[in-house]
Amino acid sequence: MSNKKFPKEESEAHWKNLLNEEEFRVLRKKGTESPFSGKYNLHIEKENYVCGACKTTLFTSNQKFDSGCGWPSFDDAKKDAVEFILDKSHGMIRTEVVCSNCGGHLGHLFNDGPTETGQRYCINSISLDFKEG
Ligand SMILES: [Zn+2]
Repeated sequence: MSNKKFPKEESEAHWKNLLNEEEFRVLRKKGTESPFSGKYNLHIEKENYVCGACKTTLFTSNQKFDSGCGWPSFDDAKKDAVEFILDKSHGMIRTEVVCSNCGGHLGHLFNDGPTETGQRYCINSISLDFKEG
């Protein structure tokens, strides 16, 4: 984690209590789920996607597209809902996407998106929850 402060900062114990083991591993320890395993990879209902930890709305279903990469992909995020952190782990330079409210790890942002925005948010299903829009 960076030293940045988020509005909803909670202790590790709080999140462990709230999240299941896999959610905790991805959201709080920056893990990655296996490709094509996620419950929302092929999910196309009309819903808002919310942070799996703090339930802030992050993406809408019309921002979702099928990238074929094995994780839910979005071409944009809700304004101010996510923040970006330079991620130099695993010998790569990538842009990490985190929830701007709780700092939970969501996935990474790439600039090779096929739609107008040119952006591809590659997000772990497990970091998301959804509610009907
Ligand atoms: Zn959050």
